[in-house]
Amino acid sequence: MSWDISGYEKWTWDEIPLGAMTLEGGTGVEHKTGDWRVKRPVWDKEKCKNCLFCWVYCPDNCCEAKDETMVGIDYEHCKGCGVCAQVCPFDAIHMMGEKDARAEEEGEH
Ligand code: SF4
Ligand code: SF4
Repeated sequence: MSWDISGYEKWTWDEIPLGAMTLEGGTGVEHKTGDWRVKRPVWDKEKCKNCLFCWVYCPDNCCEAKDETMVGIDYEHCKGCGVCAQVCPFDAIHMMGEKDARAEEEGEH
C-alpha cells in the first residue's frame, strides 16, 4: 500500500489517512510481531529459578510458563523490549542482537 502525502503540511487532522488499525481482539495469532525485534531475549534454563517475574512483567505475554514453571519465550510475538532481562533477579535472561542470534541458529543447522 502507498499513500499520496503531497501537500501534507497543509493537512488538517481529519485529512490524515488512517494508519494500521486493529479492529478486533484475538488477532495476535495472525500478527507475528516478533518480526519487529532487533534484540532477542535469550533464556538460560540452568540459571532460571522459576520465580516467573518475567512472565508477570512481559508486556506481550511472551514468557511462557506451564504448571508454574518457565518453559521458554515466544519468539513469534516477542518484540525484544528487554523488560524480562531487566526484571530477572537471577540473570537468567540476556539480550542478544537478533542478527547474531539468527546467524548462530543457522550455524547450528
Ligand atoms: S525472571 Fe528469570 S528466574 Fe524468574 S522465571 Fe523468568 S527467567 Fe526464570
Ligand atoms: S523482550 Fe519484552 S516482549 Fe520479549 S519476552 Fe522479554 S519482556 Fe516479553
